[in-house]
Amino acid sequence: MTKRIFQSICIAVLCTFAASVLLFMGVLYNYFSGIQRKQLRMQADLAAQGVANEGSRYFEGLSVADYRITWIDMDGVVLYDSQSDSAGMENHLKREEIRQAFETGVGESARDSVTLLRRSLYFARRLPDGTVIRLSVAQNTMLTLFFGMIQPICAIFLTVMILALILADRLSRGIVRPLNSLNLNDPLSNKGYDELKPLLGRIAAQQRELRKQREELQQKQSELKAVTTGMAEGIVLLNEKKIILSINPAARRLFETDDSCVGKYLVAVNDSLKLQELLQKAGDGQRAEMRMELGAGMYQMDASPVFSEGMVFGVVLRMLDVTEKEKVEQMRREFTANVSHELKTPLHTILGSAELMANGMVKQEDMPAFARRIHAQSQRMIRLVEDILRLSRLDEGAGDMQWEEVDLYELAKETVQSLLPEAETFNVRLYVCGEPAVVYGIRQLLAGILFNLCDNAVKYNRPDGSVRVIVKAGEGRVLLSVADTGIGIPPECRERIFERFYRVDKSHSQKTGGTGLGLSIVKHAAKLHDAAIEIDSVVDGGTTITVCFPLYRNFTKP
Ligand code: ADP
Repeated sequence: MTKRIFQSICIAVLCTFAASVLLFMGVLYNYFSGIQRKQLRMQADLAAQGVANEGSRYFEGLSVADYRITWIDMDGVVLYDSQSDSAGMENHLKREEIRQAFETGVGESARDSVTLLRRSLYFARRLPDGTVIRLSVAQNTMLTLFFGMIQPICAIFLTVMILALILADRLSRGIVRPLNSLNLNDPLSNKGYDELKPLLGRIAAQQRELRKQREELQQKQSELKAVTTGMAEGIVLLNEKKIILSINPAARRLFETDDSCVGKYLVAVNDSLKLQELLQKAGDGQRAEMRMELGAGMYQMDASPVFSEGMVFGVVLRMLDVTEKEKVEQMRREFTANVSHELKTPLHTILGSAELMANGMVKQEDMPAFARRIHAQSQRMIRLVEDILRLSRLDEGAGDMQWEEVDLYELAKETVQSLLPEAETFNVRLYVCGEPAVVYGIRQLLAGILFNLCDNAVKYNRPDGSVRVIVKAGEGRVLLSVADTGIGIPPECRERIFERFYRVDKSHSQKTGGTGLGLSIVKHAAKLHDAAIEIDSVVDGGTTITVCFPLYRNFTKP
């Protein structure tokens, strides 16, 4: 700004100077031209008087240095000329001043030289005898005058310019100083130029508006932060170039990054091609979703475009943990496949046997064996369906079942009693030891735990083996142990035997009528009673499975 003011002042001084020089020269030139013209007229009048009185004798011995005198007759023929030989001169009738003099008595004109540096002034007067006397004088033109005065003009110009530069420098600094010292933080407190007051007023109003908007924005930002910080879902806000504008703690954890990723491209945080494609879709204005593995979990990624005036100006990426859901879905798929598979085998056997019998392809003496096979497979299917129903009830939480005080020792004795026929078949002895111990639970489920553990202990035993059911109370808990002298469980299978349909030896399990669901029921039922399960097993040495119940006094019903 200082520079512009400085330049303006310099240009103004320069223009003023040029205008002054031109005006001054013009006035001077006019003044002196006027005087010269007056003198020319006077001299011409004197010469006219002389020629009128003396005729051509007037020119004898006449000496005129500055003037040129010419005498012209009525036909325009030059009779005398003080500077040239009149005989060789052309006719003067057409000259402006001569023509005027013949017409009106006096004539005046001026003519510039070819170079424009000289100008001739002419004055002519008609004599009583009809001839004309003309006087002319050479005069400098404005241009000559200007060139003649160029040195003083330059000197004055230099002086004026130096003065103008000093003045312009001071003035421009003086004008700008108050502007530079304006306090824009508090515009209305500034004194100085009155002309600035409306501008300062507007700045103050805009600052107030900006402050208000900033406060609103900050409030909205902190609200958004508060909401997204507490969210378990990951939320990432991106602009149209997929640069991160905001990322909540959950999303930071998932992408294993920190706050410094704000302002960077998302691809720098996670370069998954699938994720880039998802964001690209959202960037094109379509809502898109996909599942993606992040760390040890599975996440549902939803990308939604954000529109403003019909244009996408950002994308919101939402990341939802679906690990559990995925696991449940996977389990459900496996369970359905397993159930179909488990049901298919007995059904095929029943169908095959029934077809053979219907087509008369079974001998009369084999009929009972076929009927027994159909009966056994039907029983197996019924057991399977019952176990599935039990499990599904447990999956639902067994909310409608009756909670009561149950003496596990008594229940164990009842269970063992019901298993005696089976134990006899397998040639296994059953014992119940311990003491009465009451737990608070669901009798039906506790009976299920006991039955499945004892049933397995009998089924996976060796001939002449034994099963010992021990019930003990103490140290704030009730322990139920079922120990057998059977085939044992290999260490690598101990974790998996509680999975649905998992069997260490499938043919053994099927031979003994196992469904592969017994221990899953035990696990679920124990969980509902807040009880822990421990396995101690030696291959070919026997297995002890212990269920550890909390004492019912401390146990609160779920
Ligand atoms: P199943 O109906 O096949 O017995 P379970 O869920 O009750 O199904 O048991 C799962 C698997 O665990 C069995 O197939 C068997 O291989 C193994 N198992 C369970 N209890 C015992 C045990 N006491 N001794 C040896 N193996 C056992």
